[in-house]
Amino acid sequence: MWLSIPAESDFSIYNLPFGIFKPAGQATARAGIAIGDHIVDLAKAAETGMFGKRRFFKKILEQPTLNDFIALGKPITSRIRRKVQEWLELPTKPEGADQLLCDRRTATMLLPVRVPNYTDFYSSIEHATNVGKMFRPDNPLLPNWRWLPVGYHGRASSIVVSGTPVKRPSGQILPPGGAPDTPLFSATRQLDFELEVALVIGKENPLGQPIPMEKTEEYIFGLVLFNDWSARDIQRWEYVPLGPFLGKNFASSISPWIVPLEALKPFRVKGPKQTPAPLDYLQGKGPQNIDIALEVSIKPANSKSETVVSRSNTKYLYWSMAQQLAHHTVNGCNVQVGDLLASGTISGPTPDGAGSLLELSWGGKNPLALKDNITRTFLEDGDTVTIRGKAANGVAHVGFGEVTGKIV
Ligand code: CA
Repeated sequence: MWLSIPAESDFSIYNLPFGIFKPAGQATARAGIAIGDHIVDLAKAAETGMFGKRRFFKKILEQPTLNDFIALGKPITSRIRRKVQEWLELPTKPEGADQLLCDRRTATMLLPVRVPNYTDFYSSIEHATNVGKMFRPDNPLLPNWRWLPVGYHGRASSIVVSGTPVKRPSGQILPPGGAPDTPLFSATRQLDFELEVALVIGKENPLGQPIPMEKTEEYIFGLVLFNDWSARDIQRWEYVPLGPFLGKNFASSISPWIVPLEALKPFRVKGPKQTPAPLDYLQGKGPQNIDIALEVSIKPANSKSETVVSRSNTKYLYWSMAQQLAHHTVNGCNVQVGDLLASGTISGPTPDGAGSLLELSWGGKNPLALKDNITRTFLEDGDTVTIRGKAANGVAHVGFGEVTGKIV
């Protein structure tokens, strides 16, 4: 390989994720592939004829979202990724290489896809049990939970790319100790993050035609890190009986690089044993989960250092991505290219693996110690929350970069 890549870079030769970027000082967005500290400019690579059909690919790769590119289908998107991989693996630097490379550290990253629809699941048994315990100590998991991946339709319009500030939302809350019929209008006092991973849909199914378990991978283009910001006090008052609404729909943040599903193949693992055995349409073959180490850190405005407050892993998810998608479409619901299906908060089996402050501070009862003698129950203005994720097996490593957001 002629390009040097920092040894621990998330963006190794095994990864090659897709994103939309603007090079420093330039106004036009285009598609790129991250490699080490660089981005391969795919629109410029198309111009050189690297992918064949110059004009066709240049036009698609010059667009400000990846939707049309992804819609070409995996045989084509994978071929383009392999072409870039071969080009990077050439023994000597090819002529004109510098024109195709851009400095990743100074580039501006944009939302990689236009998101037509966003669905949020509740697939971590540890998270569902923790939250259930706070509200129903004797019966934390509701009877449907082990039978189906519980989910709801979220809001796509407020999905933002990493780095976008998050404005503290206001809404109706019940003050502590208040009678149930006297809410007040206030800025949320219980602003939280949710550690999640979302899959990006890469292929559409016609309305009325379910996607069976064994076909789900054809429909999943790749994965991003996902922070489903939540206002717990607004959520608590509003959610009965129809579920989350204003406590959730003010913002969700995603990481800018979509890691293709094929890059995650070496990190496939078996998920937890499912008891009772799921119904037939949710039965899959082979390892359905992925081993991606995740962490969340908080950096307060008045502190120089960030503190890791949670370490978890996608492998703990009870319901796999395949099961989420098979269940989502079993009634004939159609998914669209660019749709996001988020996992739900991914909590691990140990207390420091909880994927939200609601769990980590147990509803605000146990403040968390951060560096510089700072404590937190929920997020304060000026706090920056960063989620990172990485899959590694000793040979290959594939990182997601980060999704970060500051509360303002
Ligand atoms: Ca969520």
